[in-house]
Amino acid sequence: MIPVKGYAVQSARSPLAPFHFERRDPGPHDVQFDILYCGVCHSDIHQARDEWHGSIFPMVPGHEIVGRVTKTGNKVKRFSPGALAAVGCMVDSCRTCENCKEGLEQYCLNGNVLTYNSYERMSRIPTYGGYSKLIVVDEDFVLRISDRFSLEAVAPLLCAGITTYSPLRHWKVGKGDKIGILGLGGLGHMAVKIAASFGAEVTILSRSQKKEADAKRLGAHNFILTTNSDRIKTMKGYFNFILDTVSAEHDYNMYLRLLKTNGVHICVGAPPNPSEIAAFNLIEGRKSLAGSLIGGIRETQEMLDHCSEHNIVSDVEVINISYINKAYERMLKGDVRYRFVIDMASLK
Ligand code: NAP
Ligand code: ZN
Ligand code: ZN
Repeated sequence: MIPVKGYAVQSARSPLAPFHFERRDPGPHDVQFDILYCGVCHSDIHQARDEWHGSIFPMVPGHEIVGRVTKTGNKVKRFSPGALAAVGCMVDSCRTCENCKEGLEQYCLNGNVLTYNSYERMSRIPTYGGYSKLIVVDEDFVLRISDRFSLEAVAPLLCAGITTYSPLRHWKVGKGDKIGILGLGGLGHMAVKIAASFGAEVTILSRSQKKEADAKRLGAHNFILTTNSDRIKTMKGYFNFILDTVSAEHDYNMYLRLLKTNGVHICVGAPPNPSEIAAFNLIEGRKSLAGSLIGGIRETQEMLDHCSEHNIVSDVEVINISYINKAYERMLKGDVRYRFVIDMASLK
């Protein structure tokens, strides 16, 4: 086993603090790499605070991981020491069910293995995430990244990027479509950039007036303040799609009214508590309320290649790991432009 330093929460009420644990020695199919940067996703907060229930403690969060390979097993074909490597939200799946065979490992019918807050398939050892110095992952779940961009700005693509790319691709959002991106945080700002690269007309729907100045720079065509109810009313029937990235409870009914006939409201934000939806808001105008979970490994690689081709990276605020508890508090206030990324060199 390999001794590893990280940051963990010991319970739903404790802060993140230094933690020592072990990872497996790389097997024949494994890639071992030093973690250089790890993005901070709102899902880290939901899970560290057990807001979705069933969290496994102690927990080392982090699933937007980039670094440099140090060791590879003798059956590994696509990576060698010195190469850049990345890992997102999953590290394994059954690989035999119909969803896995289609490259939809995120919907594995036998349960995939998440990068943290999960158990390894055979050993049932808990998995630990990217707020740590190194990681060992099966080659099939390791992604290739370009060296054309600063690594810290690439890290958030591994969750925020794929979680927004996958539904935009699935619903074929592109030229001629009007899409509203609800919530301008980590996922929201990636959604704006990616939807704009697909040729859609993009409107940011945000409750934070101070983020308006960034809208055009991020690639949006319009900015609407969601707390301005008169302005919201003028948008009735405007959008083909709304991609909802909001992390806390909110009123879906208000946004369903903004969709055109046949419009789709896609939930990627995962508030811990359920909300009421009036059936009439779906019935009138044959509207759909849908959801989407991250993306498969093949599609994650496709997204990374698309972003590299179109010069799309994340807008990041790089932090030392000792700042992580403060970063969580700021995210809860919507105060992030637009993704915190931990410089893992700060973990001594
Ligand atoms: P984030 O950076 O904190 O952004 C969330 C944004 O939502 C905030 O910046 C804010 O935007 C808006 N918001 C927050 N609280 C709100 C409230 N009470 N009312 C209205 N708007 C509010 O979070 P993130 O990392 O992008 O993650 C967003 C959500 O997606 C989380 O629930 C996360 O767990 C989930 N997620 C899902 C998947 C998936 O596979 N489906 C993957 C990753 C993350 P404004 O200031 O612009 O209003
Ligand atoms: Zn995430
Ligand atoms: Zn499967």
